[in-house]
Amino acid sequence: MLLLKCPKCGNKMKYNSASGILMKKRKRCVYCGHSFKITDNIVKKV
Ligand SMILES: [Zn+2]
Repeated sequence: MLLLKCPKCGNKMKYNSASGILMKKRKRCVYCGHSFKITDNIVKKV
């Protein structure tokens, strides 16, 4: 699992990284709906 931080609203959320192909993907923030690049916004690996 990765801990991601939304660059827009600052909320943190978990992301299941089990697939290993996430690095080019974008994640939609569950709080504000903003979509951001996963690689640029990893807080830490959980
Ligand atoms: Zn957000």
